[in-house]
Amino acid sequence: MKFLNAEPFRIKVVEPIKKSTRAEREKWIEDAYYNVFKLKAEHVYIDMLTDSGTTAMSSNQWAGMMRGDESYAGAKSYFKFEKAAQDILGFPYVQPTHQGRAADFIMSQLYAKNGGYIPGNMHFDSFKGHAEVAGSIPVDLIVEEGRTANTLDHPFKGNMDVTKLKALIDEKGKDNIPLIIMTVTCNGNGGQPVSMANIKEVSAIAKKYGIPFMIDAARFAENCYFIKKREVGYKHKTVKEITLEMFSYADGCVMSSKKDGMVNIGGFICTRHKELVPMLNLLAIVNEGFITYGGQSGRDLEALAIGLDEGTEEDYLEYRIEQVKYLGDELHKRGVPIIKPTGGHGVYIDARKFYPHIPQGEFPGQAMVVELYRTGGVRGVELGSCAFSKKDPETGEVTFPELDLVRLSISRRVYTNRHMDVVVNSLADVYERRHEMKGLKLIYEGPILSLRHFTAKFKLL
Ligand SMILES: *Cc1c(COP(=O)(O)O)cnc(C)c1O
Repeated sequence: MKFLNAEPFRIKVVEPIKKSTRAEREKWIEDAYYNVFKLKAEHVYIDMLTDSGTTAMSSNQWAGMMRGDESYAGAKSYFKFEKAAQDILGFPYVQPTHQGRAADFIMSQLYAKNGGYIPGNMHFDSFKGHAEVAGSIPVDLIVEEGRTANTLDHPFKGNMDVTKLKALIDEKGKDNIPLIIMTVTCNGNGGQPVSMANIKEVSAIAKKYGIPFMIDAARFAENCYFIKKREVGYKHKTVKEITLEMFSYADGCVMSSKKDGMVNIGGFICTRHKELVPMLNLLAIVNEGFITYGGQSGRDLEALAIGLDEGTEEDYLEYRIEQVKYLGDELHKRGVPIIKPTGGHGVYIDARKFYPHIPQGEFPGQAMVVELYRTGGVRGVELGSCAFSKKDPETGEVTFPELDLVRLSISRRVYTNRHMDVVVNSLADVYERRHEMKGLKLIYEGPILSLRHFTAKFKLL
């Protein structure tokens, strides 16, 4: 019943956020060299920089924090977390880590140390980095419909192209493929879901060739909710049942708890193979801390145990996915060129369509981010010619990515749809004034091109 469809929580604790004037924001963003990473968070009214680690915890989680057992070894909170991970994900062995990328590191040490190719739908940066450091080559095999530029409506744009996967195995030989990874939802193309059919098919191929199959599970609950809503045969199953089925096809998973774990920090790695556990524990001990805390405090583990349960509840997931869709639909109604359909955790805007008169060398995405901040105090992030340009090491020639995107991520349980209305009105106002807008000039890059979006300084043109 649509009229019953408000947020499935009421607010017990509030965190004031500061409204500001356009004049103040113009000064703050100038002081930040037109890079929103350099803004003070208190100068942001609605923060849509990321959905990572920004979740609002529930009263139950906060109560759990007080029960956190801070014993060095064998803490009660560890066993609570271990049981939650076993019950909800279905893997028998679990190792906590300080965040998701530490689990990526352990996975790369277990599987990616002896070279070879690692196919995935679209690998997340932190695993890509670890694979390359370990000496193997990550390969993205996303389906054609899932390429970010492709605006076709398709229910599972996160799927892996199975034909390309088979071709890669044939070409390189199964001994040169140490691991296959599926990222759910697919972060790299906007939180697009992967279907159960695709996971099953990839798992069957992996089994046939004896290749381990892992799931990068940061947004697993959002993915399972999409399966329930969009895939034939899942309507009458609960998200918790779908979750167990999904993970049953994999050898293990890596998790960033900062997303669907519903907490602000933490991660873990799971496996169903007992023989891997000693190495997994050892890698954790040298990098994270003792096995039963893995870089997290007891209270973190306690909150995570509760968060895994809350994050797979359907009322919550319905509100979550509907809120993302609401933001996308309202922006679309106002003419703003968004990437469709909206995925699990945010809305992406096509900056080259938004500002066709601003060349990529003048950063149309960054220009939109800056003007959105100045207009409404809303902080989004550029994923375009600042974040993803490449430079030829010999000639110094710069190539721009095909797309200049701006991402507006939605934090879990943090903002109401009234806040989303502010975002819509602000961006629609920026869009109405688009013809007056100019681009930016990059005046400082920082030490590493691929990380320059964190360090770049700009001036207005
Ligand atoms: C965030 C994320 C990671 C890395 O996790 P951190 O907790 O940020 O270290 C890995 N994979 C995916 C898909 C992610 O979204």
